[in-house]
Amino acid sequence: MSKKINSAKRIQKLAHAFICPLCGSPVKVVELKSLVCDQSHNFDFTKQGYLNLLTHAVKSHYSKELFQARQQIIMDAELYKPLHDEFVAIIDQMPGHKVVADLGCGEGSHLQKIVDKVNAKEIDAIGIDIAKEGILMAAKNYDELIWLVGDLAKSPIGNGAVDVILNILSPSNYEEFKRMLAPEGVVVKVVPGERYLHELRAFLYEESEYSNEQTVSLFNRHFDLVQTKRVSYAKNLNQFDLANLVTMTPLAWKGKEEKIKQFMNQTSANITVDLELLIGRKKR
Ligand SMILES: [Zn+2]
Repeated sequence: MSKKINSAKRIQKLAHAFICPLCGSPVKVVELKSLVCDQSHNFDFTKQGYLNLLTHAVKSHYSKELFQARQQIIMDAELYKPLHDEFVAIIDQMPGHKVVADLGCGEGSHLQKIVDKVNAKEIDAIGIDIAKEGILMAAKNYDELIWLVGDLAKSPIGNGAVDVILNILSPSNYEEFKRMLAPEGVVVKVVPGERYLHELRAFLYEESEYSNEQTVSLFNRHFDLVQTKRVSYAKNLNQFDLANLVTMTPLAWKGKEEKIKQFMNQTSANITVDLELLIGRKKR
């Protein structure tokens, strides 16, 4: 069966969880070809197996190279394995069927890694990103999930339809997150800790720490912060993956070219991953 038909079937099964990004009406899958709303707005499934729900063209500054580098670092180098284990624990301890959405999923590797490891089979996973290049790559590589090009400011997901919102090192739209989150659902936002990639920052800027205080307090204003969890460790990366790390890290692009070259010329280096998980629920 083609990727197009498979993706249409996956969305058909979960059609109640989606709304039209243009008018907010309910949607249904028609002839396994299109998603159509009550007001006849029409979105066609692509042959690569994703659905483009953008209502206007968006120019992304994230390139194919960035997404390939991310995929390599996440899937093969497994730099974020301890982070994925945390997500698996959170998802597995929730009862029953779960809809999990990664909002700002890029090329989808975090979500795929997490879904690969959860015990619960009763899970539907949706990845959304505004960057078409990212979603295209996700759909090409990962067959079983729902991949949507969409704008988080006008999300195609219905009210209360998501049990677990993942938002990993990516911008948020808290008003929309609140709207989409199920009453008993959780939102998990991952922000950099003060030592995140500090070797890279120290190399490029001679400064290695920064603060996420503002991000945490903003999250607090929108959700009941149930728990914060620090995930901090170091991993040795080889030269190939150091280059990938630079390619996938926008902060590195502003560094001096000479310094970037020096960093990538190391045969290997220890890299610190220091992340904070903000776990929230709807305010009561
Ligand atoms: Zn519509």
